[in-house]
Amino acid sequence: MTAPLRTATRLRRASVAALLALVATLLVQPAVAPIGVRAMGPLPACRYDDILTTPRGYGDWSITLVDTILRVTKTYVPPDLVPVSEAGLGGKDAVRLIMIDDLRALAQAAAAASAPLGVQSAYRSYAEQKIVFDGWVARLGYSRALQVSARPGHSEHQLGVAVDFKTRGSTSPFVGDWGTTAAGKWLKANAWQYGFVNSYPKGDIALTCYDYEPWHYRYVGRELAAQINASGLTPRQYLWANFTTTVVPPKKAPVATVAPVATAKPAPGATAVPSPSPTTLASQVPILSASASAVAPGGPATQDPAASPPIEAGPIDPAVAAGAQPALLLIAAVTFVLIIGGGWLAARRRRPGVGR
Ligand SMILES: [Zn+2]
Repeated sequence: MTAPLRTATRLRRASVAALLALVATLLVQPAVAPIGVRAMGPLPACRYDDILTTPRGYGDWSITLVDTILRVTKTYVPPDLVPVSEAGLGGKDAVRLIMIDDLRALAQAAAAASAPLGVQSAYRSYAEQKIVFDGWVARLGYSRALQVSARPGHSEHQLGVAVDFKTRGSTSPFVGDWGTTAAGKWLKANAWQYGFVNSYPKGDIALTCYDYEPWHYRYVGRELAAQINASGLTPRQYLWANFTTTVVPPKKAPVATVAPVATAKPAPGATAVPSPSPTTLASQVPILSASASAVAPGGPATQDPAASPPIEAGPIDPAVAAGAQPALLLIAAVTFVLIIGGGWLAARRRRPGVGR
């Protein structure tokens, strides 16, 4: 074989290999970056990010997952908040109307079982959650606050379906192990029958990313609560595996605007939370919050337009998919030209009758 012919043959083989690689890529791609398909890989390890969760429409109340990575927007305010007094419970806290009947049934059953319930806290807006989180930062420092409280946007309380229970008539469930009280034990055993699940069970910090909270229940409806209870999984695991469509990268992308938690120094006067602790890192909360709303680090589709309501529940990652298509088309075009060109070149070299 002459040199030009060898070249042409190699060119053609390379082209065929490229074509096969392209076909393989196209075949495999749906499994790599599925759009609108559930269960996007294994449950992400605990870390802190600010990725918008999907689905997050107000109608998706039962399956919207927020955790230390996933959040809703600042403007997420459920449209049907009603006071818990409508369920026969004391206090002015609010929950979504969709859960009021089951909350009433839960409270009545608990009272009948000599485990009367009160409400410590229920719906909290983004701004209210910020006050709560900042308060924990002031008391415990930033890194510890992350384990006992959700950053604003990341709280199930903002969904309007979470309730921190207490024993009726008591001041708070935060002293001792409330899970061992009559009300705590009754809830653990029975809450699922009324549509409530405990979001942060004992010993599951590696899965929930938060400390044990025996008082914190989230309403998901009776059917889903029964499924979660039967699965033995934490709600976070169950929602992630079955409903969450957000694409979460394994690690947070480095973003220059986010101050490193471990090294940032508190800026005196930068925080609204008065703190007796000289080592407080409260000033980082505004830094992180500002970056979350303005820059939205850590992944695609994390914009948080303050003006628009968070009603869409579409796939989170169309930009990535759209960006991949032109590149694939270009590869296909180049491969096509190489194959045609290689064949033409080989045929042209063969024509003078050199043979083998
Ligand atoms: Zn709570």
